[in-house]
Amino acid sequence: MVPLRCPICSSQIDVETSKAMPFCSRRCQQLDLRRWLDESYGLPHEGDDPNDELLESTN
Ligand SMILES: [Zn+2]
Repeated sequence: MVPLRCPICSSQIDVETSKAMPFCSRRCQQLDLRRWLDESYGLPHEGDDPNDELLESTN
């Protein structure tokens, strides 16, 4: 099976154990949702917004 990659943090996803497909974790799922909401609400900040506090441990 081809390994999936999380669209948020690009981690490889274990399809067997991931509880938040197509993301690697609930955290990334929430982040994506928030990103999507930010866009749909048209918040004033745009571009490379430092919304990375949820990704502190992706290195
Ligand atoms: Zn992820």
